Amino acid sequence: VRKPTFSPTKLTTYLACPLKYRWTYVDARGKWHLRAKSYYSFGLTLHRVLERFHSEQQPMLEPKEALLSAYEESWLDAGFSSADEMADAYGEGKAILEQYAEEYAAAARGANTLFVEKNLRWDMGEFILCGRADRIDEHPDGSLEIIDYKSGRRATTTEDVASDLAMSCYQLLLKNLYPDRRIFATILSLQTGQTASYGMSEEELADFEADLRELCHRIGCHDFFEMAPIYRSLCPNCDFLSLCRQHPEFCV
Ligand code: SF4
Repeated sequence: VRKPTFSPTKLTTYLACPLKYRWTYVDARGKWHLRAKSYYSFGLTLHRVLERFHSEQQPMLEPKEALLSAYEESWLDAGFSSADEMADAYGEGKAILEQYAEEYAAAARGANTLFVEKNLRWDMGEFILCGRADRIDEHPDGSLEIIDYKSGRRATTTEDVASDLAMSCYQLLLKNLYPDRRIFATILSLQTGQTASYGMSEEELADFEADLRELCHRIGCHDFFEMAPIYRSLCPNCDFLSLCRQHPEFCV
């Protein structure tokens, strides 16, 4: 039997709605109902541009030129409802990258980018935990910073980082690889360039690991085909509403 693999996206989906988890990861019927989302295309384009920017340093180009040329080549147009909506998003993305370039040029952070789009993985026995970090920087004191780009957010607080399941997973994964280093995580709101950081203590990491083991065990034992869907606030905007509606006990 193959060992189950859990990523922050899978765990967040399960916590939001176990039925959504079923339709996304367990029951093949779900995939026919997934719709392309413009905000996924937009976010993915920005992630790809920043990945290229940080992995292929081009000494001949200024940061702004390098970012905007990567932007033109990486643009994805799936999921937009009209040409106007797409043009607005394109303009917004351009402004975000111009600001990023200015801040990048101005920043004397002294940090060195170690990895971009880094796949992290840990075989935790009963299951495998995996995740993909947007960027990992190393600071002169040896500490490692996990940086997560958020394209849809204007502001981020320390509490946001501290309570973000994905950021906690990345910290746990990186701590497993580099047990002697100080690890912390940063969310970068691309629309404004604002950042917030939080580093979990050893005790918080141990508590989080215990909770994670319990959650993954629960998902592994869950009988997704036996459960009735329960109406919740997510349902009106959910891709799987028509599937859940087929269940006799589902009432809107
Ligand atoms: S429609 Fe509601 S119950 Fe069904 S998967 Fe979506 S969020 Fe869950």
